[in-house]
Amino acid sequence: MKNGKKRRAFICPRCKEPGYLEVRHRGYCTYYYAYHRVRENGKWRVKKCYLGPESYSNVERFEHLGLRGIIDRDRYFKYSLRLLNKLSHKQLLALRDRIEQKLARKPVET
Ligand SMILES: [Zn+2]
Repeated sequence: MKNGKKRRAFICPRCKEPGYLEVRHRGYCTYYYAYHRVRENGKWRVKKCYLGPESYSNVERFEHLGLRGIIDRDRYFKYSLRLLNKLSHKQLLALRDRIEQKLARKPVET
């Protein structure tokens, strides 16, 4: 993907305002920004929200957890699946108990 703004409907995950998504590539890394047009004192200006990198490969040099940027809305689910492979059988049973307790308290969201 080239650098630049992607013209599509986009709600910024940081400020929850509509804007344009901009993708910047620097070396092997990809970074995301949201651009918003805001009106202040009768003038339009651009407000930029930094959305972080696509992945955090530099901080995962010794322990690859698959950390993803805020732009990936499924990142927590992906983390959970990846971490399951790192747990022992005993830890998985303890986790299952915690999940069942949590599911009993809260209705399932869709
Ligand atoms: Zn924003």
